Amino acid sequence: MSQLQLTAAGGRVNPDAWVRTVRSSWQNAGHRMTEPRTRVLERIAGYTTPFTAEQLYADLQADGHAPGRATVYRTLEQLHTEGWVARIHSSGLDTGYIASWPGHMHHLVCTNCGVVVAFEGCFLGDMMAKLASETNFTIDGHLLQLYGRCIRCQRV
Ligand SMILES: [Zn+2]
Ligand SMILES: [Zn+2]
Repeated sequence: MSQLQLTAAGGRVNPDAWVRTVRSSWQNAGHRMTEPRTRVLERIAGYTTPFTAEQLYADLQADGHAPGRATVYRTLEQLHTEGWVARIHSSGLDTGYIASWPGHMHHLVCTNCGVVVAFEGCFLGDMMAKLASETNFTIDGHLLQLYGRCIRCQRV
């Protein structure tokens, strides 16, 4: 059975550590770390609640010297593909993203303030094996996101 585990930073991304880790991972993979791409990383690391691609682009523009829209979207897409950014589903509006870690990650989302807490692993593995044998499906993956209220919002 998988073990549920909060990430080292209590489920939140430590912005500096996240930027450093993504940078070294990309450098090890032979990707060029350009200045515009670094600015995108630093902006993403600063969000504590889900952001949309358009919001990210607008915030980078507000910072001044924004990278081109294509760079922003391509960088975000690559981060998502590699697991450095997770998609967060909320009722309505566009798909939100939040900085995360590659691996078996799931997220708790506060429906009041939007804060996101990541945890690693889940207990769906056994159920999937049972379902696969009962339905003759080959199950390749799963989506799981939990929502509720964080401790601060419970007091409001
Ligand atoms: Zn909250
Ligand atoms: Zn899972």
